[in-house]
Amino acid sequence: MSFVFFVVNFTAQQMQEERKTPEMRAQMTDIERLRHSTAHVLATAILKIWPEAQFAAGPPVDTGFYYDVDLPHRISPDDFERIEAEMKKEIKANHPFERMEVSRDEALALGKKGRLAALNERNAPSKFKLDIIENIPPGETISLYRNGDFIDLCAGPHVMRTGNIGAFKLTSVASAYYKGDEENPQLQRVYGTAFKTKKELDDYFAMLEEGKKRDHRKLGKELEIYIIDEDVGPGLPLWLPRGAAIIEELEKLAKETEFAAGYQRVRSTNIARERLYLKSGHLPYYKESMFPPMQLKLDVEEEARGMALQRRIAKNQERAKAIQEKISKLEQQRGVPFSAMEMAKDKAEAAKIEAEARTMASELAVILSSHRYYVKAMNCPHHHTLYAALPRSYRDLPLRFAEYGFCHRYEQSGELFGLMRVRSMQMNDAHLYMTPDQFESEFNAVNEMYLNYFKLFGIEKYLMRFSTHDPAKLGQKFVHEPELWKKTEDMTRNVLKSSGINYVEVPNEAAFYGPKIDVQAWSVIGREFSIATNQVDFAQPRRFDLRYKDRDNVDKIPLCIHRAPLGTHERFIGFLIEHYAGNFPLWLSPEQVRILTIGDEPNLLDYARATLDELRGHQVRAEIDPSTDKINGKIQRAEQMKVHTMFVIGKRDMEANAVSVRVHGKGNLGAKPRSEVMADILQSIKERRSE
Ligand SMILES: [Zn+2]
Ligand SMILES: [Zn+2]
Repeated sequence: MSFVFFVVNFTAQQMQEERKTPEMRAQMTDIERLRHSTAHVLATAILKIWPEAQFAAGPPVDTGFYYDVDLPHRISPDDFERIEAEMKKEIKANHPFERMEVSRDEALALGKKGRLAALNERNAPSKFKLDIIENIPPGETISLYRNGDFIDLCAGPHVMRTGNIGAFKLTSVASAYYKGDEENPQLQRVYGTAFKTKKELDDYFAMLEEGKKRDHRKLGKELEIYIIDEDVGPGLPLWLPRGAAIIEELEKLAKETEFAAGYQRVRSTNIARERLYLKSGHLPYYKESMFPPMQLKLDVEEEARGMALQRRIAKNQERAKAIQEKISKLEQQRGVPFSAMEMAKDKAEAAKIEAEARTMASELAVILSSHRYYVKAMNCPHHHTLYAALPRSYRDLPLRFAEYGFCHRYEQSGELFGLMRVRSMQMNDAHLYMTPDQFESEFNAVNEMYLNYFKLFGIEKYLMRFSTHDPAKLGQKFVHEPELWKKTEDMTRNVLKSSGINYVEVPNEAAFYGPKIDVQAWSVIGREFSIATNQVDFAQPRRFDLRYKDRDNVDKIPLCIHRAPLGTHERFIGFLIEHYAGNFPLWLSPEQVRILTIGDEPNLLDYARATLDELRGHQVRAEIDPSTDKINGKIQRAEQMKVHTMFVIGKRDMEANAVSVRVHGKGNLGAKPRSEVMADILQSIKERRSE
């Protein structure tokens, strides 16, 4: 498929951090090179129209390129045609991109004459380029690139000639501060995109168009799947019956799959005491993403105990203060007999009081915090608690706890987006506990499960991002367990390699407790979604003091894998809506069958009702269109709602104990015996066929 080419490149680009050094710039992919070169051509064209334009930075981005320009004229999309015409001339001229290396002084001299990012010398200096030169570290090569009259300060690389730019288009213009700093002047950021061929460019815009049509927010509303209501709150989707039907099917799939793979289901609460999340380390590290706590009332006894403790702590503080004052006085009388002995005595006393105060303070904290509750943001602490509830032996492992757990996370309101970024989510979660030598087979089995799901949903393109730690950030961003990091990362890498899975390694992006794998999938129209995660955890089991008795009768700490192949219902259904464009396969279809009668004679309606009962008796989601409309109106409505299968029933069908089958997107399939159609439908659902 034609999207594949640039989709791959987008990903490669996202793998890299903002590139700054020449070494990093040299890693620019072919398409990035092409797009960045188009930015030079854009600047050339703008200068032909507005010679006074001053340029700042013009890098490639995810979907194209931009160039930041300072210009009194406000560029609008109305100007694009004119600019594009100039760009086409520059491409047609097929100028080579010539590289020139210059000394710092030469570069500065050109900049002062306004000759950088310009077609000729100008009255005003190339101010942004001069600033950029100032910031180039000493010793680094400074290079200029020339195409035609245009000379720019740039590290490169570029394509060979302007004529190599196959197809381009300007897309939008926005404002941006120089270097992203509000203190700096505001610039105009002109965006565009470019491809090797016109076909790729056309395909790209066709994909954007198709994406708009398939937008899960649009289809979610039209197909009555979910709503977001202001009274309930932003980021808190409610599922209409059609959405709930999809959820039920996904849960059924997950439960069957997990059961067969030896998982056990558990259930946890939606709130828990603060101390659970202190234990897990989510507090304070994850606090920003959690809803603020609820402080419940203390009971009478605790209230009294708490107040007594507070009084005693205050008294202790007074006593400690008095002793401190005495000690500092004694210190001033150094050398006076007895003072040394007395001071030692006082210091011991002070230490004792301090220790007492500490004990009391923590007692008080326990009382207060035991009445502070948080809404669950992740299931792991609950599952770890369930693991710890019973003594475990190596014979019990691996232990696999699964739950479609409800979680709430406090996403910033600016980040909320349809079903993709929400504040309440139900996760296809499970935690697997194992001995180190079980890791490989468990991890393989998890990957296998991912791949089977991809096959089932027709996800042909996916990528696993394997995020590892940065040894320089041990103890800060990552728990300080250098050996465990190395060991688990090696194990994970080996499994990924040997299983031939499509993955890339991304340093410095692991979770704080272990390496992590994020799964990105592409819908059929080539849009990318981050849908699932898989994490290796060696830190939380330790924090929770999880143990198992090993063969040698010694207590050991299990490894844990967190996995959620189907992600959250919210994100996964958002993905599926776009992936299928709302045309769900029969097994997943919110309304699997709709019965449409031609006319409303009583015996025809009886036949329709009997057919409905039979379908429902087999758990098929079926409805009868109750309206008295003409058959064409009924069909049109069912097609609009993307009902999978329609039974059109007329008098002749009834007499032959048949139904005329119509499938959404396929049209009329003709009359068939009712029993045959019924068997077909049940088989398709049972096998979860892709159509
Ligand atoms: Zn350049
Ligand atoms: Zn977890």
